[in-house]
Amino acid sequence: MAKNRYDAIVVGARCAGSPTAMLLARKGYNVLLLDRGAFPSDTISTHLVHPPGVAALTRWGLLDRVVATGCPPIHTYAFDLGPFVIRGNPGTQEAPVSYGPRRTVLDKLLVDAASEAGAEVREEFTVEECVIEDGRVTGIRGHGKGGRTVTENARVVIGADGLHSLVSRAVNPEAYHEKPPLMASYYTYWSGLPMNGGFEAYDRGDRGWAAWPTNDDLTLVIVGWPYAQFEENRKDYERHYVEAFERAPAFRDRIRAATREERFVGMAVPNYFRKPYGPGWALVGDAGYNKDYITAQGISDAFRDAEQVADGIDQSFSGARPFEDAMETYRSKRDERLPMFEFTCDFASFNPPTPEKQQLMGAIHGNQEAMDGFVRMFAGVTSPAEFFSEENIGRIFAASSANRA
Ligand SMILES: Cc1cc2nc3c(=O)[nH]c(=O)nc-3n(C[C@H](O)[C@H](O)[C@H](O)COP(=O)(O)OP(=O)(O)OC[C@H]3O[C@@H](n4cnc5c(N)ncnc54)[C@H](O)[C@@H]3O)c2cc1C
Repeated sequence: MAKNRYDAIVVGARCAGSPTAMLLARKGYNVLLLDRGAFPSDTISTHLVHPPGVAALTRWGLLDRVVATGCPPIHTYAFDLGPFVIRGNPGTQEAPVSYGPRRTVLDKLLVDAASEAGAEVREEFTVEECVIEDGRVTGIRGHGKGGRTVTENARVVIGADGLHSLVSRAVNPEAYHEKPPLMASYYTYWSGLPMNGGFEAYDRGDRGWAAWPTNDDLTLVIVGWPYAQFEENRKDYERHYVEAFERAPAFRDRIRAATREERFVGMAVPNYFRKPYGPGWALVGDAGYNKDYITAQGISDAFRDAEQVADGIDQSFSGARPFEDAMETYRSKRDERLPMFEFTCDFASFNPPTPEKQQLMGAIHGNQEAMDGFVRMFAGVTSPAEFFSEENIGRIFAASSANRA
């Protein structure tokens, strides 16, 4: 077997890959971080980072760099359901606000942090294939821009290479809880649409949209509809995007007074979990676990994966635990997000609310503690399993009847 030059090779240098490389390098490992892109560069994402993701940036000493880019904090989430608005604070003591930094900003500072931690970073390097010997991944083959194909070896190859992960295709992991795309949506950026530190979401039948502030005084506005309408609406997506706002005239008037600054971007994604480890390999971020972006969990999830996989690999490489054992802990912690996955898929399906759900939302409305609880659940701070537990729902209904009495 070829001698391992690296402890870890990480393929993909955005939200999952750069923090994984950074954390492993900070633990003293010899890490190679590869991406076919160059940074700063954009990618398809609406880049809302909820408080759990902000908390990770704080732990890593990187939040100040996000704040220094002028990206405004978001302290309130408001869900306009038509008859009423559920408004609350998504924050925790550790991370009181959210941010929506452009990926040009966020991914660049993550890749820089990996490099500062000692990871060797090669941008514009395309991984062509994984090297597999006797059923074990031992390295990768790939090339830099215009360069010849080279082979690099490592004790572990980590696929942080997103939705169409080459590493995942090479190792063909078991997939579970798979669901097809459920929602299609389009987003763009507007100037002259002040949000005053607020995230706003609107639910109007088979249309939903959301708006929040980002860098450069711009506001991102994303509009979605059921995936069943994707083919039909894609022919004229701009009209469908604009017409959605007719369903909330106050928002329509605000966006009419604003100026669109960028092109439209559209996307629909599949939903799945994949086994995230095996002999000589691991998966982090979208490569291993993807869900509709309607709840904006992907970046915070990628950050969690980075911390958990770096811990697992460290435990294995330091001899504290066998690889399988340590990585199974990573998988089981990651899979604790199943209730959020299910909540997200349900939300993205545009299913009309059941009478029970309508009653519950009515009971939440006006009860500030319950509204904060709902908002924090949406932000991934608390699990939907906890928020929708019989005990919590009972408490919310009891408070609502006490109020009415
Ligand atoms: C429309 C949309 C909106 C979203 N909005 C939000 C949101 O508001 N908030 C949120 O938290 N999440 C959001 N997400 C999800 C979020 O963007 C992803 O979860 C996140 O980007 C995952 O990061 P990643 O590092 O796993 O993958 P990616 O960001 O996809 O990065 C993968 C990297 O791998 C590189 N790569 C791939 N193949 C190779 C190869 N063969 N060789 C070298 N490099 C390679 C790519 O160049 C890329 O840089 C959204 C997603 C979509 C589609």
